[in-house]
Amino acid sequence: MIYHCNACKFNFSRYGEVTACPDCGSQNIRYASAAERTEFLMYQDMIDQELAQQERMRPGSSGAA
Ligand SMILES: [Zn+2]
Repeated sequence: MIYHCNACKFNFSRYGEVTACPDCGSQNIRYASAAERTEFLMYQDMIDQELAQQERMRPGSSGAA
């Protein structure tokens, strides 16, 4: 389940019951809307791609000099 924090606009996914935002601790949270879920999943995908890119750009792993 994906949640949205109204206080800090943070989207996060958790299993089970959530009572507070893991980012700011606010209890002003609700289930994410369809658009927010899409945004969240796109963001996760972006992080994955960024990590993969950092892996490729790690010094010593390629001849980039
Ligand atoms: Zn928050």
